[in-house]
Amino acid sequence: MRFCPPPLPVQDYAVEAGIQLLDGAGIAERIRTLDADKQAKLLLRAFEGDYQTPTCAACGVKMVERQGKVGSFWGCRNYPSCRVKLARANALTMAV
Ligand SMILES: [Zn+2]
Repeated sequence: MRFCPPPLPVQDYAVEAGIQLLDGAGIAERIRTLDADKQAKLLLRAFEGDYQTPTCAACGVKMVERQGKVGSFWGCRNYPSCRVKLARANALTMAV
C-alpha cells in the first residue's frame, strides 16, 4: 500500500509553490490598477468565444441544452458517461 501524505491547505501549497492567491475583490483591484487600454484588451479577451454556454466542471467541454420533465437544463455533452447537470437557474448538480 502506497503512503500518500495528507494534502496541504491551498494557502500553504501556494506559499511553497510561489503562487499568490487572490480573491474576487483582489482580482478586481488588480484590474482597476491597469491602464485603460489594457483593461479594454482584457475585456475583449474575457468575452472571446462562446461565453454564454457553461462548461462541464468535470470534463471541461461545453454543455448542451436539454429538455427534462420539468423544463430545460444544461447537460454534459459526454452524457451518459458524465452526468453533470446545471439548472438554468445556475445551480450545479452532480450525480455520480
Ligand atoms: Zn462532463
